[in-house]
Amino acid sequence: MSLPADYHMHTPLCRHAAGEPVEYAKHAAALGLDEIGFSDHSPMRQDDFDNWRMNISQLDEYVENVRKARKDFPQLTIRLALEVDYLPGHEDWIRELAARHPWDYFIGSVHYVSDSWDIDNPAKLSEWNHRDAFEVWSAYFERLTLAAESGLFEIIGHADLPKKFGHRPTRAPACAGSSGAAGCTPLYEKFLAAVQKSGCAIELNTAGLRKDCREIYPSREILQLAFQKNVPITFGSDAHAPGEVGMNFAEAVQLAHSVGYAECRRFVQRKQRSVKF
Ligand SMILES: [Zn+2]
Ligand SMILES: [Zn+2]
Repeated sequence: MSLPADYHMHTPLCRHAAGEPVEYAKHAAALGLDEIGFSDHSPMRQDDFDNWRMNISQLDEYVENVRKARKDFPQLTIRLALEVDYLPGHEDWIRELAARHPWDYFIGSVHYVSDSWDIDNPAKLSEWNHRDAFEVWSAYFERLTLAAESGLFEIIGHADLPKKFGHRPTRAPACAGSSGAAGCTPLYEKFLAAVQKSGCAIELNTAGLRKDCREIYPSREILQLAFQKNVPITFGSDAHAPGEVGMNFAEAVQLAHSVGYAECRRFVQRKQRSVKF
């Protein structure tokens, strides 16, 4: 039995995080974690795609920074990973990225529901005013399902990100007992069936607790459905500062235990194993 590894951490190369990898590692060691993984925002084929990720030319530097943390904290297992944006049509680029370095895992995340709207971007918050929440959730889960089906990822990131600012569907038929996203259960079912088929994991991401939604990603409803389908899990703080490493893990562990989980997944060189937590 050990504390779950924190598999979702960023670095300043993405331009919206603070603290060098060694500082994240120091914080993890102080918390008693035995394993962490850096998964900074992957570069796009075009550097000007947006302003919240490293450029392609910085990828080697990123890998070097993670290796330096490994050297400075030999008592800690430090995995090398990326949080990769999934957009339909980007599959070849993602394969190219995969071939560049000896990654331990890729987290596949959907932030973009179109080429121009990253739904979690605070600078584009007003976009939600022109959209129907159910349509956004549907478009998001459609892409997330494609991400799972692609076979490009070991982990699917923050599976119900559209709740970040509190935008939840209300118009579709109510699904009693859920934590609010009315009518979304079929979207979850379809997504999780794809996850199950591809054999990847989903993450419990505690960053949601620090956002307006005040809830771990994904919701208890999604996690319960995932457990029923034997979908494996990982844990991540989505830390954008050293002090966020391992944040609210006790709560995440409790949530996972309460729906029945006793094991989580770890990765080395894109190979999986299960450990108790
Ligand atoms: Zn970020
Ligand atoms: Zn993300």
